[in-house]
Amino acid sequence: MKQENSLFDLTDCRLCPRNCGVNRMERPGFCGEKAGIRCARAALHHWEEPCISGTRGSGAVFFSGCSLKCCFCQNYKISQEGLGKEISPAKLAEIFLELQEQGAHNINLVTGTHFLPGILAALDLARPKLSIPVVYNCGGYEKPEVIGLLDGYIDIFLPDLKYFGQDLSLRYSGARDYFDQASRSIAAMIAQTGNPVLDENGILQKGVLIRHMVLPGSRKDSSALLKWMARNLPKDSFLLSLLSQYTPFYKSSRYPQINRRLTTYEYDKVLEEAVDLGLTRGFMQEKSSAKEEYTPPFDLEGL
Ligand code: SF4
Repeated sequence: MKQENSLFDLTDCRLCPRNCGVNRMERPGFCGEKAGIRCARAALHHWEEPCISGTRGSGAVFFSGCSLKCCFCQNYKISQEGLGKEISPAKLAEIFLELQEQGAHNINLVTGTHFLPGILAALDLARPKLSIPVVYNCGGYEKPEVIGLLDGYIDIFLPDLKYFGQDLSLRYSGARDYFDQASRSIAAMIAQTGNPVLDENGILQKGVLIRHMVLPGSRKDSSALLKWMARNLPKDSFLLSLLSQYTPFYKSSRYPQINRRLTTYEYDKVLEEAVDLGLTRGFMQEKSSAKEEYTPPFDLEGL
């Protein structure tokens, strides 16, 4: 029983790199959440990469709270302002099966690490009837040892890799150790799933898809991340999604450097570098067609 691992002890919570050590039966930690699972939406989602959303949509469950506090978070109402509804693991299992019934290509767990014991309990309940892949969609700020505990539960990892530099990750997400944790966790994800496997319709069944959103004024940081990927991750062991649609949300206006959209020049330079490094398996965006990132309505649908 993986749930018996001490990392799953929410009375002394150390589930993520924040290592709060709080008793979440009584009070929330840095993630803003007590022990009970809370979600803000469970519905078919069509705005992930084509290999995740496919034609029918991804069965996305958006969890409340987050252990990162990105100042530009588009989902800040649920990640940082507490929107959400408490549900039991049994109800979450029912939701997974309902999403499958609606035709979802996969179950997409969006930012759920702080609720892992309950999520794994729900997966244990649903698994006998669940036949679609389970996606772990996260900000990348994870403990590698927690990723190790997901073996057998998760088919696809969809982590962000946001920053290389410590100053940047501290300034925008309050996490100086972001790259250290995220880089080791992504290596653990790849070791767990092996190389990406797509079905005959191009829908991902297994593997790791790394997302990197290029930030305004941070081209050199993106370049350092791409070089790290090319040098340190086995070739063809992951897909890369290079995102251009940064939009100043939430508290971005506090930081002049990111209080604007990305320029075509900035994105194209990063894209060129990815191509030069041979990082061409994945998804790149036409900057000219980039729209404001889609934010789903957090109206408790499907809960
Ligand atoms: S999951 Fe929440 S309470 Fe637990 S260590 Fe992380 S931020 Fe702290």
